[in-house]
Amino acid sequence: AAPAPAMAEGAMAAPVPPDEDGDECLPQYRHLLSPDLLAGQVAFITGGGSGIGFRIAEIFMRHGCRTVIASRNLQRVSEASKKLVAATGQQCLPLSIDVRQPQTIVAAVDEALKEFKRIDILINGAAGNFLCPASALSFNAFKTVIDIDTMGTFNTSKVLFEKYFRDHGGVIVNITATLSYRGQALQVHAGAAKAAIDAMTRHLAVEWGPNNIRVNSLAPGPISGTEGFRRLGGKFAEKSNQFSVIPLQRAGNKTEIAHSTLYLASPLSSYVTGTTLVVDGGSWLTSPNSFSALLGIASSSAK
Ligand code: NAP
Repeated sequence: AAPAPAMAEGAMAAPVPPDEDGDECLPQYRHLLSPDLLAGQVAFITGGGSGIGFRIAEIFMRHGCRTVIASRNLQRVSEASKKLVAATGQQCLPLSIDVRQPQTIVAAVDEALKEFKRIDILINGAAGNFLCPASALSFNAFKTVIDIDTMGTFNTSKVLFEKYFRDHGGVIVNITATLSYRGQALQVHAGAAKAAIDAMTRHLAVEWGPNNIRVNSLAPGPISGTEGFRRLGGKFAEKSNQFSVIPLQRAGNKTEIAHSTLYLASPLSSYVTGTTLVVDGGSWLTSPNSFSALLGIASSSAK
């Protein structure tokens, strides 16, 4: 096969923003957009204590936003909140929720509104995933992923709608994936769950547009420094040079996902609704999707 072309000379025109591997804030940050882009706003971020959700919280806070970060593990979100406040000087309220249980969401949204009096943005980032061939997937494993990803996104969106967005407007960004576009091997559970969310994005955009609510999806590709990356064989793919087949020839990072989410959450995208923004360096167009080869990767990366 022909060797992959080296990164073009003009690559400096689109430099990659720096990122940190673990759930740590960026030691430095250079604003590409106005630091007050989200001034005065409040974002409710499910899964905001780790990975992509953590970086979204940080970048939003660096643009003047206050945040609520919510997931099951209160200790995780509490520690994350301390780091986020220290790095950005903004307020961050950590809360415990299980997106499968609507009453926990109701309680958290009530507490957030008590604290901040408003919620402008909802990021549905909570999810669970793992590699597994359909033949080995238990009924319960499939259901669990649908429950967290799909049901969780609907539950949280509906609570926010009833408690605040119906009367005040708002923005919803659902973090999905490109897995279903080509029927990604070993991913029937997450692919089906995220495809349903992309459908929900369009349905809710139609029904809630008149309430001044924008609803969009953001579908990341392989993103380094995340649990998803670790569980889905990202390290293995990196070591075996598989990212060279991606048009941009590399994995993405959390800061890049946070920047694209910032666009969708901010007035920069004021006329954008019901769509999915794919942020994957072109990955889904060219990455391998061979069932047998990916089975090999799954078993090596599980070791
Ligand atoms: P992550 O750190 O594992 O994020 C998942 C978050 O969801 C965790 O903070 C977890 O916190 C929370 N969560 C799980 N179950 C929950 C529940 N029942 N209720 C409330 N919160 C729950 O993984 P990530 O890789 O950064 O992924 C973030 C998002 O990006 C996910 O939607 C994922 O599908 C999507 N994505 C990631 C990649 C990637 O390469 N990493 C690629 C495509 C899409 P608790 O354990 O405390 O509940």
